[in-house]
Amino acid sequence: MYQKNISCQYFAPQKIEEALEILSRYEIEIKIIAGGTDLLVQYYDRLYEIDNWLDLKNIKDLKNIRINKNQMEIGAMVTHTQIEISEDIQKYFPILSQAASDIGSPQIRNRGTIGGNIVNASPAGDLLPSLIAYKAQFKLVSSREETIIPAEAFFIGPKKTILRADQLLSEIILPLPEKNTYGSWIKIGKRKALIIATITLALVVRMDKDNEIIQNASVCLGSVAPTPLEIKEIKEKMIGKKFKQLDFNQLGGMVEDKISPIDDIRGTREYRKDVAKEIMINALEEIDLAYIQHVEVV
Ligand SMILES: Cc1cc2nc3c(=O)[nH]c(=O)nc-3n(C[C@H](O)[C@H](O)[C@H](O)COP(=O)(O)OP(=O)(O)OC[C@H]3O[C@@H](n4cnc5c(N)ncnc54)[C@H](O)[C@@H]3O)c2cc1C
Repeated sequence: MYQKNISCQYFAPQKIEEALEILSRYEIEIKIIAGGTDLLVQYYDRLYEIDNWLDLKNIKDLKNIRINKNQMEIGAMVTHTQIEISEDIQKYFPILSQAASDIGSPQIRNRGTIGGNIVNASPAGDLLPSLIAYKAQFKLVSSREETIIPAEAFFIGPKKTILRADQLLSEIILPLPEKNTYGSWIKIGKRKALIIATITLALVVRMDKDNEIIQNASVCLGSVAPTPLEIKEIKEKMIGKKFKQLDFNQLGGMVEDKISPIDDIRGTREYRKDVAKEIMINALEEIDLAYIQHVEVV
């Protein structure tokens, strides 16, 4: 017979400090809830059982987007819609804004948060490749300490992160890009809206002050490995070269060679490898176009 559990607790504090105190008391006996768009689906699918909930919805300090000196700080409770429409994010981190606009549907984007996307740690999480390509850092806080770690160090497997039970993700920190930085974001899925990605790619390229020589490049893919995958070897092939000298086909081939995706319901290994090459070439072409237009107007 079904018995109602009367010891169930629901907290919705207004301050981060209160939330951390509650977390330190309950640790694995409590679930943090942000927008609930991942968590409640998993709950109703009975992927876990929990009696206690810590809802972050009332904590205003987690909802800010601000520029502080040479970095942008995005609170973990900022929604995908806010990321999509923020003029500062569109200006400095355009491909993060585009990735947010590709998530789910308007309803999901209005509720789902950047913090939830990160901590859920799906290999297909749409914000993750752009965050890694932009060299984001995550601020993790507990009642005892505050730690800042590089985004790529956070993910250790599908739905697995280094976050401890007494910690919450409070902020995403992005260094403001230098002048002459270009980006491209590509999401491939079976249809345009409400679709989990078959494969994604974020590419960020920074030129020197004369807008000629590549100073830095990062490419990160989603849905091709247990965690978002940065292809670090690409840097050697791009840094120090003029954009016009790049062999797009060779760079696409390199991305294809460096990934070992699995077959799943959204696509086969071979399909993902072929598409990885094509979308790397497309991303380079997109940057090439933006670069030519930029050089012409300077
Ligand atoms: C119909 C539908 C379509 C979707 N489409 C997409 C899509 O296209 N692309 C995509 O990437 N995702 C998609 N999602 C997944 C989901 O919407 C996103 O991952 C969203 O960003 C999750 O955020 P949330 O605030 O709802 O997280 P929640 O569900 O509230 O939480 C997710 C996880 O993160 C933890 N958590 C949340 N915030 C914090 C924090 N600050 N500190 C510590 N732990 C925290 C929770 O405990 C939980 O484990 C979709 C979901 C649905 C239901």
